[in-house]
Amino acid sequence: MTQINLKRGYLEKNKKPFVIAGPCAGETEEQLLETTIALAKTGKVDMLRAGIWKPRTRPGTFEGVGAEGLKWMTRARKETGLPVTVEVANTNHIEHALKAEIDVLWIGAKTTVNPFSMQEIADALKGTNAKVMVKNPINPSLALWLGAIERLENVGVNVLGVIHRGFSDFGNKKYRNNPTWQIPIDLMLERPDLAIINDPSHICGNRHSLASVAQKSMDLNFDGIMIEVHRDPDNAWSDAMQQITPATFNEIISSLVIRNVMGYEHKASQDLEESRKKIDNIDEELIRILGQRMDIVREIGKYKKANNTSVFQKSRWEEIVGERIKMGESLDLSPGFIQKVLKAIHDESINIQEIILNK
Ligand code: PEP
Ligand code: MN
Repeated sequence: MTQINLKRGYLEKNKKPFVIAGPCAGETEEQLLETTIALAKTGKVDMLRAGIWKPRTRPGTFEGVGAEGLKWMTRARKETGLPVTVEVANTNHIEHALKAEIDVLWIGAKTTVNPFSMQEIADALKGTNAKVMVKNPINPSLALWLGAIERLENVGVNVLGVIHRGFSDFGNKKYRNNPTWQIPIDLMLERPDLAIINDPSHICGNRHSLASVAQKSMDLNFDGIMIEVHRDPDNAWSDAMQQITPATFNEIISSLVIRNVMGYEHKASQDLEESRKKIDNIDEELIRILGQRMDIVREIGKYKKANNTSVFQKSRWEEIVGERIKMGESLDLSPGFIQKVLKAIHDESINIQEIILNK
């Protein structure tokens, strides 16, 4: 099997992302080969992708060519010398993909979301030496994403990395799938050992914002990028709006700016050190003040218990929010931010008083 050196820290080490590219779907052998050979010629691809089984949101659209397409993938590998990856969603797909010696399997967002499917997949992969990448679930749940990874790891599967492709969101016009960057960041903190790849194609759902989302992932120190490329994007059989030509792909990847990673091992400049110390002090102060505030909340809680008064006072809450938002604005703090912070503090205050009232 082809050697694949994707690991957490790839970007930092190689000063370039690990790039996975190819069409949304393998449509015909000719389409797949023409696209992947053009991609290989750019010299900017580390692995080729194509969907062979396509989980489509609504029936009646192109659902993939099925197992036959696996032969096309291995042919693309032979022509380009690049490893190949396909999506698998059930034991039947896995059987075929492993038999065809596909280098890497990926689990799609609509599969990661389902623990039954994930367990079935894990059981089918047990004892094989398959390498797997796990896309985030369609809903914004870090727990489900981690759960899917753990089900695979529990049976000894080699989880090569994870793919961030954004989350379904009602009424969001800007993105097809909201990136909600905090979730992949939390995943990086929780699992600093896993390589993480950004999929700007499924986040954007269009061509024009691909470059900025890809750049943002580089700024956040993602290890790689998975992007959909088609020889004739406008006439693609699936996800036509977001696919790009090999030439556009080349431009986008070439114009990515790779920043230096500021690990603690690097000597940060003196100024930066100073600013960080200031931030540390301010955070300490903030936490101390929050502690003081909660002490007062407890006193009020005792008063409310003694007088049998309800915890939540709507008029008081509205007054607090209104005043603090005004104050925040005078300090260049957005109303949304102040509201979020106050809500977190208020929720905690209510919890504390609830405990006191019901003691
Ligand atoms: C895909 O990569 O083509 C795909 C189906 O993506 P997702 O699972 O992210 O929807
Ligand atoms: Mn797609």
